[in-house]
Amino acid sequence: MSSHVSHRRGVHPLFHSSDAACVGPQPGGPANTSLRPLTCSACGTLHPPAPTAVCPECLGPLEPSYPPDRPLPSTTALSRRPASLWRYLEWLPFEEEPQLSRNTGFTPLIEAPILAAALGVRRAWIKNDALCFPSLSFKDRVVATAINAARQLGLDTVGCASTGNLANAVAAHAAREGLSAWIFVPHDLEGGKLVATAVFGAKMVRVRGTYDDVNRLCSQVADHFGWGIVNVNLRAYYAEGSKTMAWEIAEQLGWRFPDAVVAPMAGGSLVTRLAKGFREVKEAGFTGDPLPRLYGAQAAGCAPIVEALHRGDGRIRPTIPRTLAKSLAIGSPADGAQAVRALRESGGWAAAVDDLALVGGIQLLARTTGIFTETAGGVTVAAALALARQGHLKLTDEVVLCITGHGLKTVEAVRSGLEEAPLIAPRLQEVEALITTT
Ligand SMILES: *Cc1c(COP(=O)(O)O)cnc(C)c1O
Ligand SMILES: [Zn+2]
Repeated sequence: MSSHVSHRRGVHPLFHSSDAACVGPQPGGPANTSLRPLTCSACGTLHPPAPTAVCPECLGPLEPSYPPDRPLPSTTALSRRPASLWRYLEWLPFEEEPQLSRNTGFTPLIEAPILAAALGVRRAWIKNDALCFPSLSFKDRVVATAINAARQLGLDTVGCASTGNLANAVAAHAAREGLSAWIFVPHDLEGGKLVATAVFGAKMVRVRGTYDDVNRLCSQVADHFGWGIVNVNLRAYYAEGSKTMAWEIAEQLGWRFPDAVVAPMAGGSLVTRLAKGFREVKEAGFTGDPLPRLYGAQAAGCAPIVEALHRGDGRIRPTIPRTLAKSLAIGSPADGAQAVRALRESGGWAAAVDDLALVGGIQLLARTTGIFTETAGGVTVAAALALARQGHLKLTDEVVLCITGHGLKTVEAVRSGLEEAPLIAPRLQEVEALITTT
């Protein structure tokens, strides 16, 4: 017991000292929490708020429970709230407005007419989570809900098993909230993702193995040390953050739905929660539009969800990832089966694209919209292109592409494919010479 406490304090010398002896839930935490309780989606049992993602009765997945008779805001009231994911508070697992991670979400929705023409669809928009705060990926949304759950549960140490962006997000959020963070990543992560985690002073550990090995280790870590591992034992609260992307898309289109939404898939949580978010918008009566068709995108070198959908049995066969798209490299996706179901029920489909196509996707997005995305965004754009060519996205469709991370995090993916800039002396003739030769 004492050894891990001293590790933790070793990493974070500024951390206040009163918590030294206690790693687990602290007195005064859970008792007066504003966290909503959890309900088992398999057996329906209600559980008090806890850092537990599975039902103690039947091991089914837990989800926050929302009283159907709670007061709900009107669209006008919503429109007056601050521009962050907390404007949808009544659909998030907190009874009172959370105090941490106040500036996350409400990212731009940008129309992209040149890209729409390239895809051959009526209109296209980019939901640009490359500009999500504080760490420039969609993962800031899930950390915003998870870290507030950790605080409410009295946990002073958070962590994650990450393919990169979650590491950045947990490290950034934890730093500014004064929480200790332990971050576990696969050993072969991109340099940018490592730097953008370590800079925040988090304790980062590289694990020899795949993401799935890291994730298994983190389940043991969560149990053993009583930490809040955001995507493991806090997963019920984590996943709810994803669905705010659907709420924002509907509101930013003027309380309408697009015909189709294309989104990348790693563990399958985002597409599953997009479906949930759109359903909630409709249930709230904020639009009468039919629910959008949802399309999932993966890299061909790690496409267990796409393959399960294409095979038709919906059963996930774990794979060993081999792709440039490391942020999506989860071979055994936690929400894989649910994701297949969500895509199918929405009337959508899925596509897997190879590494060459994903690099092409990054360039196509950059050159048609001025947005630089990381490998996951390249997968999304390339998959949209493939789905359009296969006739899944149609000439009459309005389509939203979910761009989930910033391109400066994975520059090595595109660098080698780009032409080297000519090097000249500072003389006008040399510029003239360039112009005549090109
Ligand atoms: C994590 C992640 C996703 C989606 O992940 P899910 O596990 O499917 O929710 C998409 N894009 C990026 C850049 C990510 O980091
Ligand atoms: Zn249960």
